[in-house]
Amino acid sequence: MGTLAGITRIAAGILGAIARLASTADDTRAGWDAPAGWDAPTGWDAPADEDDLRRLGLSRGEYLRAAAEGAPSRAAGEPPVFEGRLLELIDGNVPAFSPEELALPPGSERYAELDALGRCGPAIALVGRETMPAPGTARGDLGAVRPSGWDDARYGFVEGGRLFQRCHLIGHRLTAEDANPRNLFTGTGYLNHAMRVFEGLAADHCEAAPGNRVLYRATPVFQADELVARAVRLEALSAGDGGAGVRFSVLLHNVQPGVRIDYATGASREDAAVQDATMRRCVANEASRVFHRASCPAAARIAKGARRRYEGPRQALESEGYEPCKRCRP
Ligand SMILES: [Zn+2]
Repeated sequence: MGTLAGITRIAAGILGAIARLASTADDTRAGWDAPAGWDAPTGWDAPADEDDLRRLGLSRGEYLRAAAEGAPSRAAGEPPVFEGRLLELIDGNVPAFSPEELALPPGSERYAELDALGRCGPAIALVGRETMPAPGTARGDLGAVRPSGWDDARYGFVEGGRLFQRCHLIGHRLTAEDANPRNLFTGTGYLNHAMRVFEGLAADHCEAAPGNRVLYRATPVFQADELVARAVRLEALSAGDGGAGVRFSVLLHNVQPGVRIDYATGASREDAAVQDATMRRCVANEASRVFHRASCPAAARIAKGARRRYEGPRQALESEGYEPCKRCRP
């Protein structure tokens, strides 16, 4: 039985590999020339949204490097099962825009109609300065929108106290969209911070020079009739440069460490077993039981015998009795 299961698994793996090769060969990415070394992430060394990343416990560079090195890659059609990592690559980090989508004119924004269950669908836009909010524009109030599965719950250990946020599929920063129900889904604040990191890559590219644009798509991934998305897929490709400026295809899971979510309804309960193993890198002081970002001056002063390099989920370190440094806020 075990052998049979093993053979089945190997066969499935081979079939998956063949399917991935076949999908690489097809024509869906016509219209842009893959740069040399196209499977290496690009645009990932841009300046930082440090506040969002600090909440994730990482610098932007660390986060994206960890993502590039540590994130598994799965095929686009695979069910979005959370296997302990917030972030995964899809199709080897290559977006799957059709030739028609690659030809969208500047200013294009499309939001899918809500389905019979009131769930949003893919949102795609060619973002650029013409779609972005004017400097100083305040964001509107989203409170009137109730995305599918909106079952707001409070947890003392979650930043801001609330589990869910009304998450933009395509961020306000890119399209100036406010309370558009077709652009909002029920997502954790934890996911929202990670989404902003990727929005930031697109926004930075657009802000870098007039005429810079990024084709950007966010697809909420619902399973069966569930009301809360399991994950969101983000794809981006900078226009006119073959993706040299920005290119990614990632899946971000709609999770919150410490909380188990019933995706069918949006109900939730505390569960310490739910953790994010997306890599974090820090330096712990075994004498003071404080941990730091590697760049913290205090980290450099830790005595050799007490210095511990750590890579893994932050909460595992906290559960060992370590506390984050108040200065570098790892
Ligand atoms: Zn520190």
